[in-house]
Amino acid sequence: MIELDGVAHSYGGTELFSDVSLSMGQGSFHFLTGPSGAGKTTLLKLCYGELQPRSGDVRLFGESRRKMGRNDLARARQRIGVVHQDCQFLDHLPVRENVALPLIASQRPVPEGDLDDLLGWVGLSAQADALPPTLSGGERQRAALARAVMTSPEVLLADEPTGNLDWDMSVRLLSLLIELNRMGTAVLIATHDLNLIRTAKSQISARVLRIAGRRMQLAGADL
Ligand code: ADP
Ligand code: ADP
Repeated sequence: MIELDGVAHSYGGTELFSDVSLSMGQGSFHFLTGPSGAGKTTLLKLCYGELQPRSGDVRLFGESRRKMGRNDLARARQRIGVVHQDCQFLDHLPVRENVALPLIASQRPVPEGDLDDLLGWVGLSAQADALPPTLSGGERQRAALARAVMTSPEVLLADEPTGNLDWDMSVRLLSLLIELNRMGTAVLIATHDLNLIRTAKSQISARVLRIAGRRMQLAGADL
């Protein structure tokens, strides 16, 4: 569904990585790891078409990013859920409306029952009417996850979703992501937390990719 083929990226004159290839098939589970600054966020931006690759090719649902116009990209983006590192809520709107925002923004009807189910799934039924600034870190991340899956995307990309969470909450969030994957969503998680990856690998089969030294490699069992 998302394919990167020999992709390179640089900011200014500084090359971040080159020759990166990745293929996210239906129902696949990937981790992307590597030190801070290695380019994980940049790679996610390439995966959802936010950035054009400087060289190589990115294909979203079989279509080359280079050949996609604005409407093509918008259509592809509706099939991809993204949990950004800084959750970015509209602070004056309650959690419920923030979660429904992807539908509201594209003028689609909000199925209230589904929204309730989704809030229940992430454990935020009691916070549905709360304003985002009153949420804890774990609640924010779960709200961001709910918002990302509101449109039932086929692919979910999460950037350091457990970045500021304690271990118990990290595991809880991971469980939600694993559950989503078991229901058929392809998942890619960018994280530097190797404990999280080890915990996931004890439950599901996931491919672990590591960006280091400007290349991406498949990590072995020696995590
Ligand atoms: P990671 O997610 O692995 O921490 P990033 O992709 O966020 O890595 O960033 C990789 C490097 O690229 C960092 O050194 C960062 O400062 C730099 N960078 C990120 N975005 C930009 C940008 N828009 N312009 C210039 N440099 C950037
Ligand atoms: P530190 O506790 O110094 O951060 P550790 O390697 O002990 O370093 O743990 C790294 C992270 O993993 C910590 O956030 C820790 O709380 C968390 N952690 C706690 N329990 C476990 C566990 N059973 N398995 C893996 N990681 C755990």
